[in-house]
Amino acid sequence: MSEKKKLQIALYWGAACGGCDVAVLDTDAFILDVAALADIRLWPIAVDGKYADVEALADGELDAAFFNGAVRNSENEHIARLLRQKSKVLVAFGSCAHLGGIPGLANFVTRDDIFRTAYLDNPSIEPGNRTVPVPSTPVNGHVLEIPKFYQRVYALDAVVPVDYYLPGCPPAPNQVKAAILAIATGNLPPRGSVVGASDRAVCEDCKREKSEKKISRFYRPWEIIQDPTKCLLEQGIVCLGPATRSGCGVRCPDTGQGCRGCYGPLPGVVDQGAKVVSSLASVIDSRDPEEIERILDAIPDFTAIAYRFGLPASLLQRRIRA
Ligand code: SF4
Repeated sequence: MSEKKKLQIALYWGAACGGCDVAVLDTDAFILDVAALADIRLWPIAVDGKYADVEALADGELDAAFFNGAVRNSENEHIARLLRQKSKVLVAFGSCAHLGGIPGLANFVTRDDIFRTAYLDNPSIEPGNRTVPVPSTPVNGHVLEIPKFYQRVYALDAVVPVDYYLPGCPPAPNQVKAAILAIATGNLPPRGSVVGASDRAVCEDCKREKSEKKISRFYRPWEIIQDPTKCLLEQGIVCLGPATRSGCGVRCPDTGQGCRGCYGPLPGVVDQGAKVVSSLASVIDSRDPEEIERILDAIPDFTAIAYRFGLPASLLQRRIRA
């Protein structure tokens, strides 16, 4: 009797912090089930597969590819296109692949700004060293090539069509399990779905007591002694729960931190940052423009908070400087 063919899967890490790969390992003993269910054909952080091995696969030979991280450079784009071509199902895994994520905040500045800060105006650089990376460098009669650093960051679906989105920074381990099992059993929702998350706002799943919100001052979490039972926003702590899709298990508000918005916008909301602005504006207890400005001044880097995980996929996408 022939053995059931194992799933063929790939995992890739684009512009990301590595937390999504850790989230896969956070499934604990389930990772052993994954090893029994699937051949992992590429997983740079854990398995010694080479890009050439993936290039040699037939189109569609992979059952699923899980792409975490945003697309920041030409290598990320190459692998995104390669995995799309070789995979029946491509999953945008985590906030960065889903919406651009934290790396997408770099869209508030230009590539030149980033290079200047990292390679020129950096106190850890040897004095006088003005070297910045370039894609091709002649070395001893050869050409050394490194990935081209793009002007901006892209969410995965701005580069290739994506079948499913698994939101979160990182996705919760139970979601990761559910997504892998759904692919293994073929029990998949319609293409284009956000999987493992709910259609409700985080506030709807949050157990903190809610009443009328009237804010006359915002605080950083360490600036006040919280009432552990009450809504954080009502206590003046910025919480993006009203503007964020639930499914995370309310992990941040449960531990006294405002929701950071990593599960992305609610269904039907095009721009999560704009929704954040409108939800915070609706709770400020003043109609006086100067007073409102003073209240908002207590929120450091307001646009980065509103667009923390989704700038590249928002209506704004990026800031363009002359
Ligand atoms: Fe909970 Fe935050 Fe919503 Fe308040 S605003 S109910 S703390 S998720």
